[in-house]
Amino acid sequence: MNDKDCIFCKIVRGEIPSFKVYEDDDTLAFLDIHPVASGHTLVVPKVHATNIFDISSESWTAVSETTRKVAVAIERALEADGVNLMMNNREHAGQVVEHPHMHLIPRFKGDGLKLWPHGAYKEGEAENVQEKIRSVLI
Ligand code: AMP
Ligand code: ZN
Repeated sequence: MNDKDCIFCKIVRGEIPSFKVYEDDDTLAFLDIHPVASGHTLVVPKVHATNIFDISSESWTAVSETTRKVAVAIERALEADGVNLMMNNREHAGQVVEHPHMHLIPRFKGDGLKLWPHGAYKEGEAENVQEKIRSVLI
């Protein structure tokens, strides 16, 4: 999808409405329209990309810093007990909107939300996957 038809680019350009909470030269933060919790916010780069796999280093740095600022603000303003950060990258990771976006979800003691089911490694599996990832990074 190009930036002309991208829903988050349209929000950045002000062509469709949003509940903006923060804006600077490189990023925009606005409320998610179907919140996991009240105050659930999305942080997006102003320059179009698809996800973590093609975002520029500059855009990603800007998104990260805005995420930090807005997370601090959400916790303070909503008197939350914590904030989850989450990013879905590609369809099978749950990405629906093809423009990079970080989810900021305020959390409250006893809210009962369970985002991550945990598993366990089999014998030798951790060493194997560690080596696979390391070999691509080195
Ligand atoms: P994801 O599944 O990570 O791609 O998340 C996309 C998110 O965008 C969902 O949580 C939607 O609720 C949210 N969303 C979609 N359209 C809008 C919109 N026009 N304004 C605000 N949030 C939106
Ligand atoms: Zn876009």
